[in-house]
Amino acid sequence: MAKDYYQILGIQRGASPEEIKKAYRNMSKELHPDKHKGDKAAEQKFKEVNEAYEILSNPQKKQMFDQFGEAGTNGNAGPGAGGGGFGGFDFNGFSGGSADFSDIFEGFFGGASSGSARARQDEKGRDLEVNISIDFMESVTGARRTLQIRKQKECEVCKGSGTEPGTHTKTCPECSGTGQVTRTAQSFFGLIQQRVLCPRCNGSGKVPEKPCHKCNGEGRYSANVEVDVNIPAGIADGQTLRMRGEGDAGRQGAAAGDLYVHIHVRPDKRFDREGDDIRSINDISVLDALLGTELEVETVQGTSKVKIPEGTQPGQVFRLKDKGMPQLNGSRHGDHYVTVNVKVPTKLSRHERKLLEEWRKL
Ligand SMILES: [Zn+2]
Ligand SMILES: [Zn+2]
Repeated sequence: MAKDYYQILGIQRGASPEEIKKAYRNMSKELHPDKHKGDKAAEQKFKEVNEAYEILSNPQKKQMFDQFGEAGTNGNAGPGAGGGGFGGFDFNGFSGGSADFSDIFEGFFGGASSGSARARQDEKGRDLEVNISIDFMESVTGARRTLQIRKQKECEVCKGSGTEPGTHTKTCPECSGTGQVTRTAQSFFGLIQQRVLCPRCNGSGKVPEKPCHKCNGEGRYSANVEVDVNIPAGIADGQTLRMRGEGDAGRQGAAAGDLYVHIHVRPDKRFDREGDDIRSINDISVLDALLGTELEVETVQGTSKVKIPEGTQPGQVFRLKDKGMPQLNGSRHGDHYVTVNVKVPTKLSRHERKLLEEWRKL
């Protein structure tokens, strides 16, 4: 399907960079995966919006798109194809589209069925996604999980090469060892002949003489695999960890895909999280509000004592510095804010009533 990036962002052709930015900001906020958990349509839309912004916010790419229109981008510019710029873990993993210049260019040569792009994608292992639910307190301390997943695993017999150990490779019959094949495609400029990577040997010009017996020459096979996931302290509900290379193994030693681990944090009725800060509500008696007291407050880091001064008002908030959530990837902590709720007794004993009556007369 051809895409109109302007339409995706709901703006007119010729929109200014500020207008593009504004439209993107509004839409990505509205469609953010945190707000639409499990909604595949919204997730897809979110990726499209990111992809559109990636094109339209880049003057070069925008010019390509403006010049050649939707057909120019009809192709493999799909999200999740690359990503880039991640290191190890990535939080809020949906960084959006990854269309690059070459993706757009490949659009000219037959779009989605584009041979070179298809071959390249098939070689690389797919990205996989899993969901993990953790308790609130596990988001404070961090957690470990061992996942059982079914995936394409690198073949240990041939180490992913696809060649039976002890045997050699031979010249690829498909490309006669050149690593390239010629393809003819319809484009704007008429029929075009293009040299593309040989899909059989992936450009190496060689294929196994004898394919590996374990994986039939694929270099990978489907298996149940255990993956250890380290969930860092401070993680928030809706965040995603990206584990590089833990997706499907690539074909014949090509790059593996990544594993995206979506984290769901079960709420805790004692605590409300706001960024790295925690909020809670504690009851105190009228007398404690009047005379002051020392209050024991449960924080995510254990119990803390808070001095409640005399004359504390209902709803008054006290800050416990550094008693909040650990910062993700940091050594600091947020704060804990406790709101005091002054409980007014609904029943008084005769003696209490008498004392209070006397006080009123003062
Ligand atoms: Zn093998
Ligand atoms: Zn070949």
